Amino acid sequence: MKNKTVLITGASRGIGAATARVFAQNGYNIVLNYLHSEEKAFHLAKELRELGVAVLPIQTDVGKYSDVQIMMEKISEEFGQLDTLVCNAGIGDAGLLTDTKVDKWKEVFRVNVDSLFYCSKLAIPLLRKQTAGQIITVSSIWGMVGASYEVAYSTAKSATIGFTKALAKELAPSNITVNCVAPGLINTDMNADLTQEDILLFTEQTPLGRIGSVEEVAESIYFLATEKAAFMTGQVLSPNGGVVI
Ligand code: NAP
Repeated sequence: MKNKTVLITGASRGIGAATARVFAQNGYNIVLNYLHSEEKAFHLAKELRELGVAVLPIQTDVGKYSDVQIMMEKISEEFGQLDTLVCNAGIGDAGLLTDTKVDKWKEVFRVNVDSLFYCSKLAIPLLRKQTAGQIITVSSIWGMVGASYEVAYSTAKSATIGFTKALAKELAPSNITVNCVAPGLINTDMNADLTQEDILLFTEQTPLGRIGSVEEVAESIYFLATEKAAFMTGQVLSPNGGVVI
């Protein structure tokens, strides 16, 4: 049987890289999108090819429509189809709203939200070539409950949930499910600025008493691409240790 193909945006590091590993371990061909971390992306591609799957690393800024168009053309030429799209690429931002620059606000939306529109719009024709397809977005607990000092990020991640729910209804007749994973605090570069004290404070407020791993988020994302989740659409799955219930 032909391998399935997944496009994972922001797969050079963190949650995206862990997600690429899980899909590859399950026999998927991987389109490994990255922007700046070329060395990491190429290193990961080499590692995944050793599992016997095809890997296509593509450098694309997912917040630029014309670049996403080129990426989808390359995927179409190489694989002719897509089974799953994982919209994972994202950037954070912290600071008081009164200190947030207009350009920063726009950048947070460009990378976290515009990218969902561009990638989904252009992936849908490739997903429709299958009898079933999945779009999986990555939000955050802050998109569910809001974080002070992170209004731009929280708003963008809240938009991600709205996007997921609306598109789920639109694509259900095509048997394409659209679900969201909204993690709690995860140990990645995105949180490199947090102090040990910040992390301790957060874990004390988390019922399971720790932060999460990239592997745990990757498994949640993979689950939504499997047959086991075939009757789920428009849902938010939140691996967060119980900090938001
Ligand atoms: P990360 O370690 O900072 O990695 C971010 C990834 O996104 C990198 O692979 C980066 O690629 C890519 N990226 C950034 N801007 C891009 C662009 N314009 N075009 C293409 N790729 C781009 O972050 P992470 O923690 O793994 O976060 C992944 C997702 O999970 C994000 O959507 C984030 O908001 C969400 N999330 C994270 C946490 C957490 O605690 N870490 C919690 C909840 C939700 P390059 O390095 O190649 O540029």
